[in-house]
Amino acid sequence: MIIRSADLEIVCGITSEIPDTDYPEIAFAGKSNVGKSSLINTLLNRKGLARTSSQPGKTQTINFYNINQTMYLVDLPGYGYATASVEIKAQWGKMIERYLHTSKQLLAVFLLIDVRHEPSDNDCLMYQWMLEQGYSPVIIATKMDKISRGELDRNIARMRKVLGTKEDTVILPFSAQTKQGTEEIWRLMETLAFG
Ligand code: GDP
Repeated sequence: MIIRSADLEIVCGITSEIPDTDYPEIAFAGKSNVGKSSLINTLLNRKGLARTSSQPGKTQTINFYNINQTMYLVDLPGYGYATASVEIKAQWGKMIERYLHTSKQLLAVFLLIDVRHEPSDNDCLMYQWMLEQGYSPVIIATKMDKISRGELDRNIARMRKVLGTKEDTVILPFSAQTKQGTEEIWRLMETLAFG
């Protein structure tokens, strides 16, 4: 995909209404620090567009990036800040739930999991929860440059086992460092958005 324009167009806070957009949306979810901002910047070929290493406890927003006036990448707030207050965690959950329920344009959710580690309880909950909401999440196994090829295969098999993935769940390995996986992710997003 040739990125002609990529603009952060809508920022949706806790009390904001979920926008009724004109283009298909693909959302990205994952634990904080999993590499979500790095993935979005790599996909959009823009270094500092999505902020990296966001601080725990900062304002949680849903960010809509308009791509080429044809689709939106939707950056959901990262979960799993150990230090976040119960109140923040509850608000976070409600905001994402509201988005999943309200959006008329959401086509798919991409769930990011660090390929080095076993999926956390929160990752498993998120995966199951998305299935319950009627979405079949695509898993992006991030930071693949940090492990060997053999380990990658083993860890992806472990990921499937721990998450209890459905057979048709796609897992795509990715690295923001080497950009491996970028084309595969774009191919899938284009198929989802434009057929
Ligand atoms: P976010 O909190 O999910 O948005 O995560 P970030 O994109 O800010 O990444 C968290 C940290 O992991 C940063 O220090 C990144 O440089 C690093 N990181 C992200 N993706 C990769 C990757 O593919 N490979 C490596 N080696 N490091 C990565």
